[in-house]
Amino acid sequence: MTTLIHSQTHVCTTCPYCGVGCGVLAGDGGASIQGDPQHPSNFGRLCSKGSALGDTLALENRLLYPEVAGRRAGWDEALEVVAAHFAAAAHDHGPDAVAFYVSGQLLTEDYYVANKLMKGYLGSANIDTNSRLCMSSTVAGHKRAFGFDTVPGCYEDLEQADLIVLAGSNTAWCHPVLFQRIAQRKKTHPKLRIVNIDPRATATAESADLQLALQPGSDVLLFNGLLNYLRQHDRLDFRFLEQCAEGYADALEMARQTAPSIPAVAAGCGLAESDVATFYRWFADTEKTVTAWSQGVNQSSSGSDKVNAIINVHLATGRIGKPGMGPFSLTGQPNAMGGREVGGLANQVAAHLDWNDRDLNLLADFWQAPNLARRPGLKAVELFQALKEGRIKALWVMATNPAVSLPDSNAVRRALENCPFLVVSDCCDATDLAPYAHVRLPALAWGEKNGTVTNSERRISRQRPFLPAPGEAQPDWWIVSQVAQHLGFGDAFAYRSPAEIFDEHARLSGHGNGGSRPFDISGLAGLGEDGYDALQPVQWPVTAQAPNGTARLWSAEDFAAHGRRANLLALAPKPPAEAASAEYPLILNTGRVRDHWHTMSRTALSPRLCRHQGEPYAELNPADAEPLGITDGALVRLSSRHGMALARAKVTGGQRPGSVFMPMHWNGQHARQALVNSLVSPVVDPLSGEPESKAAPVAVQSFPAA
Ligand code: SF4
Repeated sequence: MTTLIHSQTHVCTTCPYCGVGCGVLAGDGGASIQGDPQHPSNFGRLCSKGSALGDTLALENRLLYPEVAGRRAGWDEALEVVAAHFAAAAHDHGPDAVAFYVSGQLLTEDYYVANKLMKGYLGSANIDTNSRLCMSSTVAGHKRAFGFDTVPGCYEDLEQADLIVLAGSNTAWCHPVLFQRIAQRKKTHPKLRIVNIDPRATATAESADLQLALQPGSDVLLFNGLLNYLRQHDRLDFRFLEQCAEGYADALEMARQTAPSIPAVAAGCGLAESDVATFYRWFADTEKTVTAWSQGVNQSSSGSDKVNAIINVHLATGRIGKPGMGPFSLTGQPNAMGGREVGGLANQVAAHLDWNDRDLNLLADFWQAPNLARRPGLKAVELFQALKEGRIKALWVMATNPAVSLPDSNAVRRALENCPFLVVSDCCDATDLAPYAHVRLPALAWGEKNGTVTNSERRISRQRPFLPAPGEAQPDWWIVSQVAQHLGFGDAFAYRSPAEIFDEHARLSGHGNGGSRPFDISGLAGLGEDGYDALQPVQWPVTAQAPNGTARLWSAEDFAAHGRRANLLALAPKPPAEAASAEYPLILNTGRVRDHWHTMSRTALSPRLCRHQGEPYAELNPADAEPLGITDGALVRLSSRHGMALARAKVTGGQRPGSVFMPMHWNGQHARQALVNSLVSPVVDPLSGEPESKAAPVAVQSFPAA
């Protein structure tokens, strides 16, 4: 396929918002934004956010110069101050006294260099990422099921399926172009059925043939029930299981014990028996089934179990690694997947290597790293807890806003206030972190940056610049490399371009691999500057044997080729960690709206995007609102054990009785009194460390109180 890189009028790049990873043609300095008709993620489509990218490119609110202690400084001075403080903190208190908190907004090259500096040279694994908040439960689930963090399928599977099960995913709003592809399939293929599993009747529910508004947190019970139903109705693929899998006898027995019948499942999930029966029958009868999930599954104190409960039913039926079928996680951020490739989570090692001596020695040798971290570091919530307790002495936050996005955000703010040395590198000037920062470093933004991102289907795409760097802003990879130079690690960080970093990343993926690790992009090593500039979207693995990439993983043949077997897990359903009480009788579910992205630093710049949802709101069922005297459009005050927030009430039958929904976008710059994460407990999945952002007990009352 021939794809444009730079035409006379447009630059081919990739959207910086969600994990769909749409190709964008940017022309006239961003005044013209179109979908790239040749990009295999979107084939020319864009959603409302992608179409409005041109509105968000002004230099208002850009951080343009380095600052030290609140005054403008030169790069040399700022870099030296950062290096000196990190060196002193590591020297005086040990390497685990320093930390990086990074972002799925970083490009893979930025991520790679930050991870190499922290884990390879500073000697701590205390680098974690805001991707922890959206998909780390899936990483844990994949590792348990396959031994590696690998998404088995691709977007085309959604266009080849006869049944699509969407679990905890408002795909219509959060992965809109993928949803457009599903909607198109539904138009042309009337046989396609969609089951939407979500306590809320979202925009996605409007296209569903069956809506399962289950009790929050009861997903494992629902999928255990399905596994048991498949066994009872003789729909298991024992040939696949015997050839490729372990653990299925225990998983089946646990499913039988915990979800013995449709009435038992329906009662536990708060669903009608007939709806559960319909879902199970459709799944049993439809070979080409894709189950796609997102934050509604991941953001839970049992998120990794929920992921494995979904993967269990696909393994049990052999519906994986083949066209039109498979378990499919939808990543939230544009480069959550790229961060996973480079080991950007505190419990990961670069290039999908593992925490064993063989792999760590291989990495130490490749990086020539003198101080390679030998054990996992602190995950996001633990990291800010350590900051609060004074165990972190120097913290560098890159391209993210933990004061808004982390649970118990008031406690996070207090921890940041007391941070002995805080570096913030960001493209934005006025952010929630700015008042706490000792050093601020101006980073490039979308349209200026140059590198790669990887989307939900493992597809690596280029982000290419079409705007000049403003002020003294620099790429993140350059900033990190320069700090490394000031720390005395010059040779290992003497990168001159993102192409050089990508080349090292690609070579590392093949280093000592021999085909055993699925993450292998050694086929993209040695591209050179021109080859990198011309790189076309491609799905990993990309090797000498698969130079054009790989659409699917984990067919029976694939398990055999990698010398692996899958694992089914015996999973006991668990309720959310905190139950509703007399004091906090409703369960808060946090999420996203169609036209905003994360903490709105970019989307709030677009008037047309702000028109869709202009202010923070809380959705309540009439059965909950009426006894409280709350009417549609009234101001309400939400409170929990951790904080409070104000919002405009939306009273709607689409909200499950007993629950309340509130979006997470509004930041301290826009709505200081509406920080939804000030309400959320810092409860996490013990395996993945992902917070339970979908089930926080709260009270709601009119504001001001009657
Ligand atoms: Fe961008 Fe996602 Fe919309 Fe595609 S679907 S245009 S990647 S926000």
